[in-house]
Amino acid sequence: MTRITEQILAVPSNYLYPEWSAEAGKQHANWLGADHISDDHQTLALSVHAWLIQIAGKVILIDTASGNAKQRPLNPVFHELNSPWMDNLRAAGVTPEQVDYVVITHLHVDHVGWNTVQRNGKWVPTFPNATYLFSRAEYDFYSDPANVEDPSVGVFEDSVQPIVEAGLVRWIETEAKGLIPGLGFHMTKGHSHAHYSFSLASGDALALFTGDVMHHPIQVKTPQWNSVFCEFGADAQRSRLWALNYAADRDALFFTSHFAGSSVGRVRRLDNQFEWIAQ
Ligand SMILES: [Zn+2]
Repeated sequence: MTRITEQILAVPSNYLYPEWSAEAGKQHANWLGADHISDDHQTLALSVHAWLIQIAGKVILIDTASGNAKQRPLNPVFHELNSPWMDNLRAAGVTPEQVDYVVITHLHVDHVGWNTVQRNGKWVPTFPNATYLFSRAEYDFYSDPANVEDPSVGVFEDSVQPIVEAGLVRWIETEAKGLIPGLGFHMTKGHSHAHYSFSLASGDALALFTGDVMHHPIQVKTPQWNSVFCEFGADAQRSRLWALNYAADRDALFFTSHFAGSSVGRVRRLDNQFEWIAQ
């Protein structure tokens, strides 16, 4: 598995987590380390990236970051990006034509952007030979502009609908089972309407790709904290606990979408809490 990074953001701690406290910063800064929290504890680092998986001769992307040249006037950190994300993918040895599957956790701005690129003024699929896996429930919900929160305005039109119109989507709920051997689909709603996590079993190894179930490793210790971007708070808390328990019970490798230092780790239980063992 290779992390294909788009950018690293510094987000004010007390903005990302409404329940943030100076006390929490003091308590957790040491084990988090400089990759994840600033010296003064005022900002938290978040990575934006996709995961590249090459298994059994297939090339799979989990999520596609934010994309270049997208118009996001309400969201400066994703507006008209010109990041080296595609160069990073090519440096990992993969061309867009070689991608077989694009598996999407949810339809927010920073997870679907490279689904499309602009050609002759139109947004067209970046990965023309890929099958894209979306949740139908997620698609239906965000097809109504009234349900789209400010950071993701425009995303459905330029990064989601063109893939559906190109006929490249298979719906997770009804069409995806068995397409990719070993891939399991787990509804982890809350951060978004129908957010999914994905397990991947290969031999004795098990991985869990958790999208935005968590944004930062501090949430392993404070799983009751939702980020400011979580749309359905109680569901998001339940899904976070589900994912932590799933990984701890099975010793699964836990792949995150936004942890900035190491984005991969194992979850262990310690004194009635979880702890994060970065890999
Ligand atoms: Zn995200």
